[in-house]
Amino acid sequence: MKIQQHPRMYDICVADEVYSYTRQLFARVEEVFPAAVCVKVAVLSVNQRVDISVSPQLWRADDIENLSVCRYCGARDELALENATGVPFRVCLRCRVVPPEEHAHDVGTWW
Ligand SMILES: [Zn+2]
Repeated sequence: MKIQQHPRMYDICVADEVYSYTRQLFARVEEVFPAAVCVKVAVLSVNQRVDISVSPQLWRADDIENLSVCRYCGARDELALENATGVPFRVCLRCRVVPPEEHAHDVGTWW
């Protein structure tokens, strides 16, 4: 059986930052698979004392968002943070700047 690459995986590279919706965690990509990424997550465990260990996890492509590219067009240049949401999505200059005139033309001019 042929493994289909998930569409979201096309623009994810090793060392990209991804956000997991299900876990609400950020992590850096260690390895890329057709429909998932392997990330390393710091895990706190509290027994007799507090330990921090780094554990590799597989995150499914459906659950993640690549934060290292523009969320609209996938560009990697001229990225800036979009602050509207709690998640630090990045948006490129081209997608961010919408001239106000373009909106004005849409409204109320029907001659
Ligand atoms: Zn863009």
